[in-house]
Amino acid sequence: RKRNPGQNEFIQAVHEVAQDVFEFIEDKEEYHEAQILRRIAEPDRVVSFRVCWEDDNHNIRVQRGWRVQNNNAIGPYKGGIRFHSSVNESVLKFLAFEQTFKNSLTGLPMGGGKGGADFNPKGKSDSEVMRFCQAFMTELYRHIGPDTDVPAGDIGVGSREIGYMFGQYKRITNRWEGVLTGKGTEYGGSKMRPEATGYGAVYFLRDMLKYSGQHVEGKTAVLSGSGNVAIHAAEKLLQLGAKVVRLSDSDGFIHDPDGIDQEKIDWVKRLKNERRGRISEYADHFTGATFHGDSRPWNVKCDVALPCATQNELDEEDAKALVKDGCIAVSEGANMPTTLEGVRVFHDAQILYGPGKAANAGGVAVSGLEMSQNAERISWNHERLGEMLTELMEGIHEKCVEHGENGDYVDYVRGANIAGFKKVADAMLAFGVM
Ligand code: NDP
Repeated sequence: RKRNPGQNEFIQAVHEVAQDVFEFIEDKEEYHEAQILRRIAEPDRVVSFRVCWEDDNHNIRVQRGWRVQNNNAIGPYKGGIRFHSSVNESVLKFLAFEQTFKNSLTGLPMGGGKGGADFNPKGKSDSEVMRFCQAFMTELYRHIGPDTDVPAGDIGVGSREIGYMFGQYKRITNRWEGVLTGKGTEYGGSKMRPEATGYGAVYFLRDMLKYSGQHVEGKTAVLSGSGNVAIHAAEKLLQLGAKVVRLSDSDGFIHDPDGIDQEKIDWVKRLKNERRGRISEYADHFTGATFHGDSRPWNVKCDVALPCATQNELDEEDAKALVKDGCIAVSEGANMPTTLEGVRVFHDAQILYGPGKAANAGGVAVSGLEMSQNAERISWNHERLGEMLTELMEGIHEKCVEHGENGDYVDYVRGANIAGFKKVADAMLAFGVM
């Protein structure tokens, strides 16, 4: 705490990992001596920079941008860029720290990083977003590269923003190279990347349920968020025979007792990606659905819950409500959406709980495959990538079970923390002290 004053999200993330890792390394002198956890919890570097741009009314705006390069022991730094007014150094340090473990869990050669800016794309015109992205990349380009650091999208950064940033990188450097993932398929993007995080979170849910002798079919699901992750998680749940009744955004949630079918999902995709509208409009459009402003979606009878919006969006009370209402499994599409107290409730109730660093790793895994495709100048088809995603999520589930199984209960948090830590730690040991 003394080293990172006021960085609550970062401290929370390190605290959660440290509990499990300390137990694991108790009798492993080499990790202690080399101070491995302490070294992973101190980013290799944090770059902070000014982003100056002009809005449509010719006002000059000054924003702050960051890139946190946490650890590159097992591969180039890799992690998304977030544009949201809540972005600060603590949030990005927590995300870069978590990303290090998540990327390690995928089994692919990727280190951990994260970046972003306190820029809110909501209500901005296309040209404003373009000018901001160009200004952001005008500084970021000197810190990244296909073998150095490969950013991707995150909250507020989708294919439009990636396109503007990739274009600016190419313009400045005169190089076409796989420096960003999440690109359009016309210019080197991987098929399946938009779907990968949401689909992956549902595959992880399916793997957890299957391991405990259950299945997704027939389950009622509650989701938060209505962005890239939530929409694709809803789509996959539907395909596997579940019924999705809630989605949300930062204004509140919608409840649809009839279930959100494919036609409704397509409508939400257009609402969010083309019109950049609010989820409240869903209730105006579909009969039977209701909108609940300024509320979180968790207080309802359901079998499974997938938080897919943002950090700390599900607290102790929400967790208690879910358990009380019969929820048997939680798979996190978002990063650290459940508070430490909320996680404790899930553990005490011994429900299936898949933490973000395992459950939402499908996105970065397909990003890793995008890097391979770019390096080889090839493109795999949708079906092949779908198979690879399924296998990667199964592999992550197996690693969590290997390190997290204790009697009848699988502690997926412990499994993910230890499996993710071990690979990075062993690589660091091999490098000696630096
Ligand atoms: P999007 O920007 O596409 O969607 C984010 C959604 O979350 C929106 O519905 C947004 O609502 C809502 N949201 C954001 N901030 C808040 C808040 N403070 N309170 C309530 N709702 C909020 O982002 P993604 O879907 O890509 O990302 C969602 C989560 O998944 C994040 O935690 C991200 O880090 C994580 N993730 C994403 C990956 C990816 O591949 N995209 C990969 C792995 C993890 P509104 O529009 O009102 O802001």
